[in-house]
Amino acid sequence: MNLNFLNTAIDIFYPKRCIFCEDVLDFDDENVICQKCSEEIKYVGEININESACSHDDSIYFDKVWCVYEYDFVKKAIEYFKFKSFKSYCNPIGSFMYEYGINNSVFENIDVLTAVPIHKSRRRERGFNHAEEMVKVLSNKTHIPYNFDIIKRIRKTKPMYNLDVRHRRDNIKNAFACFNEDFIKGKNILLIDDIFTTGRTANECAKVFKNAGAKNVFVFCFSYS
Ligand SMILES: [Zn+2]
Repeated sequence: MNLNFLNTAIDIFYPKRCIFCEDVLDFDDENVICQKCSEEIKYVGEININESACSHDDSIYFDKVWCVYEYDFVKKAIEYFKFKSFKSYCNPIGSFMYEYGINNSVFENIDVLTAVPIHKSRRRERGFNHAEEMVKVLSNKTHIPYNFDIIKRIRKTKPMYNLDVRHRRDNIKNAFACFNEDFIKGKNILLIDDIFTTGRTANECAKVFKNAGAKNVFVFCFSYS
C-alpha cells in the first residue's frame, strides 16, 4: 500500500487534534496544540498564597504555588488524561510544565518531586495516578528524583469539585499520612498536581510534610481554576 494513501486514510479516520481545543491539526504538524491555542492561551504563574481560598480558614503550610495555565483553556486535555485514561497526554502536559518551570525557576533547589496521592480504589478505577505520570516526565527532564512512597491517601475522599467550602474542608481533612519521615526531614519538596482550586488538597499534603520536618513544600500545578 502506498504510504501517502495510508497517511491520508489515518488522517481522515483518526485526525490529529489539538489536545486543548480538539481542532484538527495538519497531519505533519509536530505540535500538539493548534496555532490559535498557542497564541491565546493564558498563563497563570505564581499564586499569591494569601489569596488562595483555603488561607481564609486554615493555616497555610506550603511555601509557594505555581500554576501554568487557566483551567478553562486546558480542561479538555485534563479530562481526557485523567478520566478517560489517555496516558499519551502525560508527555505533552509534562513538557508544557517543564517549559514553564525551567523559565520560572520552579525547580531550583528542589530535592525531590512527588504527586498528590489518590486512594488505591481510585487508582484501580483509572489504572494510574495521573499526577504521578506528570512527575515522571518532569523527573526525567530535570533529573530531580521522585518519590511516591512518602505520602499516602489513607482515607477515600469525595471529588472536590461538587462540594461547597465547608464540605471541601471536612472532606480532605486528615486524608493523608506521611511515611518515611527520615527521608523528608530537611528536604525541599515539589508537590505536583493537575489543578489548583482552593489549595486545600495541596495544603493538607504540605501539612503532613511540614509536620514530618520538611524544609519547604512548593506546589506546582498544570492549571488554576
Ligand atoms: Zn487548539
